[in-house]
Amino acid sequence: MAVDVVVIGAGLVGTLAALRLAQRGLSVTVLERGEPGAEASCAAAGILAAQAEAPTGALFDLGLESRDLHLRLAEELKERTGLDVGLRRGGILEVATEPSSLERYRAAVDLQRSRGLEAELLTAEAVREREPSLALPALGGAYFPRDAQLDPVALARASAQAAARAGVTLRLGVEARRLASDGSRVTGVETQAGTVPAGAVVVCAGAWSSALLPEVSGGVRVGPARGQVASLAALPVPLGSVVFGPSGYLVPRPEGAVWAGSTVEFVGFERGVTTQGLAGILSMAQSAVPSLAGARVLGSWSGFRPWTSDLLPVLGACALDGLYAATGHFRSGILLAPVTAEIVAELVTTGRSSRPLGDYSPARIAPR
Ligand SMILES: Cc1cc2nc3c(=O)[nH]c(=O)nc-3n(C[C@H](O)[C@H](O)[C@H](O)COP(=O)(O)OP(=O)(O)OC[C@H]3O[C@@H](n4cnc5c(N)ncnc54)[C@H](O)[C@@H]3O)c2cc1C
Repeated sequence: MAVDVVVIGAGLVGTLAALRLAQRGLSVTVLERGEPGAEASCAAAGILAAQAEAPTGALFDLGLESRDLHLRLAEELKERTGLDVGLRRGGILEVATEPSSLERYRAAVDLQRSRGLEAELLTAEAVREREPSLALPALGGAYFPRDAQLDPVALARASAQAAARAGVTLRLGVEARRLASDGSRVTGVETQAGTVPAGAVVVCAGAWSSALLPEVSGGVRVGPARGQVASLAALPVPLGSVVFGPSGYLVPRPEGAVWAGSTVEFVGFERGVTTQGLAGILSMAQSAVPSLAGARVLGSWSGFRPWTSDLLPVLGACALDGLYAATGHFRSGILLAPVTAEIVAELVTTGRSSRPLGDYSPARIAPR
């Protein structure tokens, strides 16, 4: 029997989209070839950087909206599943060690304040006062008190559970091989376990999405950008907020650790943590916070960010009727997942979006 919607991929984007679709009364099946969240979503550092390192334009607005949605989502998931996603509003500190980055932060802070957002430009002394453990040669910095962090693994688990409890069927170990269509409209998804008929299909397959999207005009590619992260034992935790330095970030973790990351590597789908990647991250961490030099390395991991060659998400209706794409969130997929899920639910149920999506059109994807 056909379901209303098949979602391909049970990463954070797919499970949250499925949850919102089910809450609008649709029957939803999620196809996931592995485990929910096991790819980029669980590899993330969990930083909700809507204002720090912010892009300009409409994506900035989507990030702000999504950061707010995270607050409500965390409560909703706690109620529905009992799971705490570890949301903390500790802010993000960006440290400038070059005059050019200080100028960039100054411009960003001015612009954001002119829009009524909370943002502070800090002197070198104020950076030291805020984070006394930092040894970066700071010329100054920017502080965004509303930016936040969470536990991405807990979030991925909670959203998959909430989707299942809302009636979504999660079919794990099922690989989507290609779309089924009658030429003008999508009719389902072909898998190794047979065809799953559906009225609509949403491709949320992360870095693997372009393999499933049909050929349309344009020149944008979707592919993997590997990122590596290390977790370092730290008691007491030496930082109060997430810190972005010139060559990486540090995330204080409530369990008594600092996560240090990350690389951005274009090595195809080659998995793993490398000597070079880890060496760079550890050297960044100990030069930023010298007390971390003696810290035990608790673990390290890597994942594939869904990268696009124009660095914008792929979000919207495709040329094939009934087909939608929600991918390509690159470094901000955890931040942007809640608003993406709202957009997908709105598109599938009403055929339109109340937010401008022109820049993210799936028509940009290069033919395979
Ligand atoms: C090291 C690292 C750090 C990051 N840090 C942050 C951060 O701090 N903040 C932030 O906002 N973002 C961060 N990101 C980015 C963020 O993790 C991603 O943008 C986001 O998780 C993408 O979610 P997704 O659901 O689109 O993809 P994924 O989580 O990769 O999920 C896609 C799913 O689709 C499945 N799939 C693929 N093909 C098929 C198929 N054919 N059939 C069935 N299933 C299929 C996969 O198995 C996978 O489970 C980070 C990423 C990495 C790697």
